[in-house]
Order: sequence, then C-alpha cells, then structure tokens
Amino acid sequence: MAISLPVLVYEKSALAPYISQQTIEYHYGKHHNAYVTNTNKLIEGTDLADQDLETIIKKTSEDASKSSIFNNAAQVWNHSFYWSCMKPGGGGPPSGIIAERITADFGSYEKFVEQFKDAGMTQFGSGWAWLILRDNHLELMKTSNADTPVAHGLKPLLTADVWEHAYYLDYQNRRADYLGSFLEHLVNWDFVNSLIS
Ligand code: MN
Repeated sequence: MAISLPVLVYEKSALAPYISQQTIEYHYGKHHNAYVTNTNKLIEGTDLADQDLETIIKKTSEDASKSSIFNNAAQVWNHSFYWSCMKPGGGGPPSGIIAERITADFGSYEKFVEQFKDAGMTQFGSGWAWLILRDNHLELMKTSNADTPVAHGLKPLLTADVWEHAYYLDYQNRRADYLGSFLEHLVNWDFVNSLIS
C-alpha cells in the first residue's frame, strides 16, 4: 500500500490572494509531493511498506535510525492535514461546537487568535502551529520541522505551516501577516468541527 498525495479539494488559485497559486504549485506540487515520493522509496521492501501513514509515524518517531522515514512520513501527514484546514472564503470567528469549546478553553475567540499567532511566531525556524485536543481540552502547540502531535498521541484540530516555503513567495519574511491571513480568511472551521463533534 503506497502512500499517496491527496487530491486538493479546491483549485490551486482558490486561496488567492492570501496564498497564491504559485505558492500552492510549489508547496503542494513540489514539497508535499516530494515527501510522498521519499516516504515510498524509504519504506519500500521494509516492514513498514504495508502500513498506513499514522502507523509509520508512530513506529518511527522514537527511533533515531529511522529519522528520514519519520521526517518524510510526518511531513506527508502534516501537509495533507494543512490543506484540509483551509478553504476559499474561510477564516474569521467559528460557529458550531468549536466556537463553544474555544470560548470555554481560551476565554474568547480573540484570545485564541492571539495565542495561535504567538505559537506560530515563536516557533523558531521551520515548524508548525497547532490547535490540539489533550484530555478533551483545547490547547495550542508548536512543533519543529516535521514533528507532529500525531507522534505524541495527541489529536490535531487545526494547523498552520510556518516553514518559510509556506509563505515566503507571498509574504517574504512577514510570518505574522501570513498567520493573520490564515486566521482571518482561510481557516476551514467546518473541517475542525467535523473532527470534534
Ligand atoms: Mn510545508
């Protein structure tokens, strides 16, 4: 069972002007695709070849000799999840159960926004900002490079890629502006609600 690149459910131009078609062409078409190709090459002929992606991530996360497999497999998972976290015309305050949970666990949507941006801004170098469920409570998390809540038994609900390749073509060094656009114009709260309800 080979690992595959998921089909994007929106056009490559659909997130513009917040994320350009050119960024999606490189980020999805080159970076994400390369993680898929590399993962398949690395697991071929091993006991991981017939495992699903989450199993591969969990089985390699603590094993330094398998860090290449972990890095590529985790990046496949993280990117597939990231594309699902966005939609054209998304962003802004949520509705549904996630709205109630955010108010309960962060105090307000505004406080959540502030803390999510802070997680993304304070991730030094490449990595990811996450909204996760831990013991049925919402929490923010940041991870370095390919690291993922999936490897730690936590349930991701939302992520923003803060590797420079995610925003440099559109925002250059302005990571804060990219995170602002992500939250105000792109978050797919329907997807987040589908994970929590
Ligand atoms: Mn990326």
